[in-house]
Amino acid sequence: MIHNISEIFGMVFFAGLILALFVLGLMGIAGMFLNIYRRLKGLRTKKMEPCRSCGHSISSSAIVCPNCGEHYGRGSGFANSIIGCFIVGFVCIGIGFYALSEFLETFETFSFK
Ligand SMILES: [Zn+2]
Repeated sequence: MIHNISEIFGMVFFAGLILALFVLGLMGIAGMFLNIYRRLKGLRTKKMEPCRSCGHSISSSAIVCPNCGEHYGRGSGFANSIIGCFIVGFVCIGIGFYALSEFLETFETFSFK
């Protein structure tokens, strides 16, 4: 049996999309664990470093210098957020599983046509 090229292209595109969702989801979960690990390590070592603006000794994980108010921006990014990675990871995998079940259903009806 010969299938319509655009239908096959659609199936391949959909399969790629599902794969991308799973990869993104796994990256989110890996990022979450990495952030938890970093946070725990940071709490244990409590490394100090001089502020690049005023030279005051501040925590290496500080977002804002308590002495001069210099903003570092670290720890506030979405990729650095444990909750953010958790949400991205589980939402992507959830959608991935939903899309996979839809895909398999479509595939079954498709091949028995
Ligand atoms: Zn400072």
